[in-house]
Amino acid sequence: MYRPTWIEVDREAIAHNVREVKQRIGDEELMAVVKADGYGHGAVTVAETALENGATMIAVALLEEAIELREAGILAPILMLEALAPEHVAVASNYDVAVPVFSAEWLRAARMHLTDVDLLRLHIKVDSGMGRLGLQTLEELEALLDAVDPETMQLDGIYTHFATADELDSELFEKQQATFLKFVEAAPDLRYIHAANSAGALRLLPDNGPFNLVRLGIAMYGALPSDQMMAYYDFLKPAFGLKSQLVQAKRVEPGQTISYGATYTAERAEWIGTVPIGYADGWSRRFQGYSLIVDGQPCEIVGRVCMDRLMIRLPGEYPVGTEVTLIGEGAPLDEAAHWLGTINYELLCQFSKRVPREIR
Ligand SMILES: *Cc1c(COP(=O)(O)O)cnc(C)c1O
Repeated sequence: MYRPTWIEVDREAIAHNVREVKQRIGDEELMAVVKADGYGHGAVTVAETALENGATMIAVALLEEAIELREAGILAPILMLEALAPEHVAVASNYDVAVPVFSAEWLRAARMHLTDVDLLRLHIKVDSGMGRLGLQTLEELEALLDAVDPETMQLDGIYTHFATADELDSELFEKQQATFLKFVEAAPDLRYIHAANSAGALRLLPDNGPFNLVRLGIAMYGALPSDQMMAYYDFLKPAFGLKSQLVQAKRVEPGQTISYGATYTAERAEWIGTVPIGYADGWSRRFQGYSLIVDGQPCEIVGRVCMDRLMIRLPGEYPVGTEVTLIGEGAPLDEAAHWLGTINYELLCQFSKRVPREIR
């Protein structure tokens, strides 16, 4: 690593979060959701850490992401969550990656691409009210069950996804549960019945239904699905940090302007630090005015954020090499996400590949 800007991934925090959730869900299995390169933390590291600490299964969005894990030697069951075109099912079967299924027509097309050496693992996906992916009627379920070819396909599970599990007084959350249970009853006995994401994981325990698997994403990384979830997740430790170092610190005279467009003018003699991170790294231009932490003190980003660097107003003179915290102690992830008008999920997965991940 040559550049002094890096993402710090706290493996012990991930391990802690997984163990704590696993302890609370009891006999339910824990599926670690590592899509989008483990929410920006590095999918292989996160998957390995989760599996060593109580997770037994892995979820990704894409077949590409599943293959990356298999090639890194991960043997645990993997479910991909995105729809797969029928012409690619033999690849999923070769890598032993389970695929969501929600239409009989898709199954009939998939069958044409499988030979008798294949065994395609499937989880039936029910759209119980999210409106995104899944079958919507019991008739569709029946047709789907009829189209399964037992020689080349195996139904491993049935699942759904909630739109409002992170809102404590949501009627839709209850309604989706009731809808999903109707599909579970109409389906044959399947190994895995799952509905909960992080927000649902500690709200939907086995007492609430036949659930035996939780799909844990954001909480594993130590971030909250929403502020309301603090009631369930007061034990989380954040795993993500973003750090850099000053590459220059200079005194500027009153009247001097900073960065493109000269949008900031020093009012008095000031110390300005240059930090080597910019929007090409995923640190948005909209962070102008936001504060980073140097030596425990907030330092405002002054002037426009450039492609590769930005400037901050320092409380005094600091040497080149002084550490700057963009996300971490004193600069919480959620605060940065709120500044951008988005959620922690989006911020975590927007950092580009050119920011190295340092696993601690
Ligand atoms: C991303 C995803 C999850 C994980 O959600 P979190 O809120 O991060 O826990 C679970 N299930 C599905 C279908 C997903 O797409």
